[in-house]
Amino acid sequence: MDIGKEQNNRWLHPCCFESKTATLILRTVYAIVVLLTLAIGWATVRNSDDLPLTKVGFITALIGFSIIAVQVMLGSRLKLLDRAFGLDKVVIFHRKMGVVAAVLLLSHPLLMALGKKSFKLFYFHTSWQVNLGKGGLLLLVAGVLLALFYSKFRLDYNVWRLIHKTMIVVVILAFAHSILIGDAFKIGWIKAWWWALLVFACATFFWQNFVVILFGRKKYIVKSVTKETHDTFTLRFEPAGSPGTPVLDYKPGQFMFLELQHRGRMSEEHPFTISSSPTAQGHITATIKKSGNYTNLIDQTQVSDAAFLQAPFGRFSWAFDNPSSFLFIVGGVGITPIHSMITALCDIGDKRNAVLIYANKTEQDIIFRTQFDNLPVNFKVVYVLSKPGQNWQGFGGHINTEIIKNSAGGLLDSADVYLCGPPMMMQSVVNALESLGVDKRKIHYERFTI
Ligand SMILES: Cc1cc2nc3c(=O)[nH]c(=O)nc-3n(C[C@H](O)[C@H](O)[C@H](O)COP(=O)(O)OP(=O)(O)OC[C@H]3O[C@@H](n4cnc5c(N)ncnc54)[C@H](O)[C@@H]3O)c2cc1C
Repeated sequence: MDIGKEQNNRWLHPCCFESKTATLILRTVYAIVVLLTLAIGWATVRNSDDLPLTKVGFITALIGFSIIAVQVMLGSRLKLLDRAFGLDKVVIFHRKMGVVAAVLLLSHPLLMALGKKSFKLFYFHTSWQVNLGKGGLLLLVAGVLLALFYSKFRLDYNVWRLIHKTMIVVVILAFAHSILIGDAFKIGWIKAWWWALLVFACATFFWQNFVVILFGRKKYIVKSVTKETHDTFTLRFEPAGSPGTPVLDYKPGQFMFLELQHRGRMSEEHPFTISSSPTAQGHITATIKKSGNYTNLIDQTQVSDAAFLQAPFGRFSWAFDNPSSFLFIVGGVGITPIHSMITALCDIGDKRNAVLIYANKTEQDIIFRTQFDNLPVNFKVVYVLSKPGQNWQGFGGHINTEIIKNSAGGLLDSADVYLCGPPMMMQSVVNALESLGVDKRKIHYERFTI
């Protein structure tokens, strides 16, 4: 690699330290929350005369509340979270912990009731302080069910997201319920810790929904809209403001949250990969396929439309791993992060070997074909078509063990694999790679759902 070029490209450095520090900070925070909450539980139930079920019911409520307080942070796109684990993994964890919290908090009234001598499961006449808790619990259960099944309810993603934001009310109701009713919260340090959790949750909510939206996003202007295929378009953006304003600092393969503003079209924020390479001068691009309510109108975008973006996010980039060779396996529009990574490799004159296996339905669906047909000699490109035309000479069907083995050959032992495509294709490729003996730690992937 050309050392001069490398020095011009700050994004090349893997920033392991940054990621390790972020991981350490976050794990420590989570451990402190759990330990302090358990300490409260222990301090409270140790000398109480309550029956064991009541004690367990109290502790499940404590743990449940501390989880939902941290949930707000996990759902808030903090850069620290992204650096440590990658936003997609954080979102998956957030989803699982939402279910755990709902189960714990639901078991709280049940266990408390069972622990009482006069057990009544449907006891409606409770004090308003208890009703605050019941209201919060109902809202939480509705929120979790909606989060898990919103697509089955045919609810638009953005409407669901708006509804999901009301989950902050659950934290406030649960806090009010516990502090008004629990004797334990009269003790100074316990009360202080409970307030700290509430303030932390509200602060991260406020940060993401007001501070970031108002001040944390950068304004760009659309400079061109290029048709790549019959259903895919590349938008080119330059920073708004005086000429020479620097574009954002990102690594090839990372993504952004983009809100395009166009008269007559709803402004919505969607995640899209930055399909250009950081080596591009003064601009970035997004390559977007028509695939739903919003993206179906993407070709209405016009030069000089404004765009607000929050970026960069994601850990899907060879710049984090610095492998000895590359195997890129892609389906459809999943090519966008790979396009960014390959363009970056070409622009810095990288001589490492790389194979791209790129699956599409038909030849007309292949995005960036001209560029891929003209890559330097250290690149090999293999197209796979599931619905090939009569004159197609290449592979047909879906990517499988045979195609990977034939195409990647000797690279399989040394290469890091970068995989992006439809979920079913990604799963079958991971299975194929594992059956070929590829180390799991060398398989990096990006999901296009968050
Ligand atoms: C990290 C990442 C990178 C992506 N990069 C690209 C890219 O380079 N090119 C490209 O064409 N597509 C990309 N996508 C997919 C793109 O975000 C979705 O296709 C788009 O949001 C669908 O919106 P829609 O209204 O057109 O479709 P719909 O049919 O309304 O939604 C389809 C699915 O997309 C997801 N989705 C919809 N709206 C949002 C939203 N506002 N925020 C988050 N998810 C949403 C939901 O899972 C939904 O079920 C990427 C997605 C992710 C997560």
